[in-house]
Amino acid sequence: MATITAIQRKLDKLNADKSEVLKQKLEAIQRILVKCVKCHKKSRLGAWSFVQGRWYVEPYSCTGGDYWNFNKTETCHITCPKCGDENYIYNHPQKNKIVELVDGHHFSTEKIFKGVTEKFRR
Ligand SMILES: [Zn+2]
Repeated sequence: MATITAIQRKLDKLNADKSEVLKQKLEAIQRILVKCVKCHKKSRLGAWSFVQGRWYVEPYSCTGGDYWNFNKTETCHITCPKCGDENYIYNHPQKNKIVELVDGHHFSTEKIFKGVTEKFRR
């Protein structure tokens, strides 16, 4: 039993270390500066808000459709914390960096950004 207890203690320590490192990684992502295409001011990614686009699938046949899908990150918007403008990620000069930061690290948009809203378009 002492062996199992010792192993469990090691696992607990590893899990605590992993949580701490993940927190540091998230904070590093949030510190990356993103420049607004409208006011040209830079803000930390974590200060921006994310606007999740949603698109509608019309009903078809007897049971198909009538639901909302999620846009890919590159076709969503982010809202500048300084001027409130919605920057379209697809046309943003830092598009590749933003998409990589949002999609590449297994953190939800709710964790990365200051806020998340949804925009529905038929
Ligand atoms: Zn701005």
